[in-house]
Amino acid sequence: MLTDNLGRTVSYLRLSVTDRCNLRCVYCVTKDFTFIPHPEILRYEEMLTLIDIAARLNISKLRLTGGEPFARKGFISFISRIMNSHPEMDLRITTNGTLVEPYVQELAKLGVKRLNISLDTLDEQKFSEITGRHKLDDVLGTIDACLKAGIKLKINAVAMKGMNDSELPDFINFARENPVDVRFIEFMPMGEDTRWSENSFWSAKDILGEARTHCNLIPVARTVENKGPARMYNIEGGKGRIGLISPVSSHFCGTCNRLRITSDGKLRTCLFSDRVYNLRGILRNPRLGPETILRVIRMANMDKPLGYNLLESKERSQGVCGTQMSAIGG
Ligand code: SAM
Repeated sequence: MLTDNLGRTVSYLRLSVTDRCNLRCVYCVTKDFTFIPHPEILRYEEMLTLIDIAARLNISKLRLTGGEPFARKGFISFISRIMNSHPEMDLRITTNGTLVEPYVQELAKLGVKRLNISLDTLDEQKFSEITGRHKLDDVLGTIDACLKAGIKLKINAVAMKGMNDSELPDFINFARENPVDVRFIEFMPMGEDTRWSENSFWSAKDILGEARTHCNLIPVARTVENKGPARMYNIEGGKGRIGLISPVSSHFCGTCNRLRITSDGKLRTCLFSDRVYNLRGILRNPRLGPETILRVIRMANMDKPLGYNLLESKERSQGVCGTQMSAIGG
């Protein structure tokens, strides 16, 4: 068991397979970003070693993220290798959905049961303002193909005042008509050049209040299936659900059960903290092996911070940490 000094147990790893992305979302990629040089990015082989170690540490849930994971060559066969070597692992993927449609049948055949798709707007013009690309139709095509293939979907929208707040009724209709979870995530001040501001912040409480003026929302009880940070609501008479994730206004650090590893092999024990542990150096040192990595992860996890303290101690418009989200993986 991977338990820290505050008694929290880690059971969930978010592994970023690349920092490259085909979109440039305003909340994610900050102004002066540079990509991690290729030689520093972990090979799939190295990532598989880390997943083996995670399994030994009783980590039972693995999320592959990015950058855009489907933008990395060989990603589908990487998924297949993970599923073969760790059939017990609850494997999830977070994607912007723009490159996925051609692979949906293959994913279903491999046994991928769920995808998280990030989609902040249902309007083509706004999609290009937020992401810098005209790709809304590709994302909608992926959603349609996944639903037909029986892949369950969570649609994650970063909630931004002045950007997508006017679309709340459209998102509610989308969740009413489709069997999907539409979840609003509060905009987090990530990266030194964050575009976060008090004016752009749309709190989960306000979203819920506004949503209730458009439909009847019935809270979903907390169960083994519904134990994550999202507060979920059934929409009366609808097929899907609405969810709210509030990392800024009402944090869940006390029950945080996750670790992150970036595509260049840096272990991050807290989203908001720039304190990282270089696992790549150990992986590539022929004199060191998995036992050293295991020890370093255990030791690092002991000091897992309470990220909310970091958020409170910083001027939010400056960004809580120096790393932009596309390099961490969300
Ligand atoms: N490219 C993939 C995608 O779009 O889902 C995976 C990477 S993306 C960094 C992972 C998640 O982080 C997305 O759901 C994105 O919306 C979220 N995210 C990025 N920056 C954020 C911010 N400043 N506040 C809240 N969520 C953010």
